[in-house]
Amino acid sequence: MAEPSAFPVSGTCACAGVSMTLAAPPRSMLLCACLDCQQATGAGHAALALMALVDVAVTGQTGSWAVTAASGAQTTRYFCSRCGTPVFGKSSRAGAHMLVAAGFFVGHSNWFRPAALIFARSMLDWDKIDDKLPRYETYKT
Ligand SMILES: [Zn+2]
Ligand SMILES: [Zn+2]
Repeated sequence: MAEPSAFPVSGTCACAGVSMTLAAPPRSMLLCACLDCQQATGAGHAALALMALVDVAVTGQTGSWAVTAASGAQTTRYFCSRCGTPVFGKSSRAGAHMLVAAGFFVGHSNWFRPAALIFARSMLDWDKIDDKLPRYETYKT
């Protein structure tokens, strides 16, 4: 679990146009190797903090792009409309929560402790992930 003492934690995107504050620790933390996350991050997986909406404050201009996830739910990714830094994502099936990009808090993300890897089925063999981390082929069950 994340150190509660690390919170609140605040950060800005690369151009400082978007700011985000997490008032409380995440409900859970995940790595996701789904194909959408690979494309959105430009890497093998995303590092995501599942947050209650009430614990997150975002200011500034975000753009968004919606895709249909493997589950059939609509996933909308939000990013800074100027510099493109990923900010958070929302699922149509999880209205009270959002998935915050841990990397947004660059330099202040030591609180991030992933509890599982999801979408291991599309994990890339060059993307080395802790063998001890529980893995799920798709969503965490
Ligand atoms: Zn920006
Ligand atoms: Zn994903």
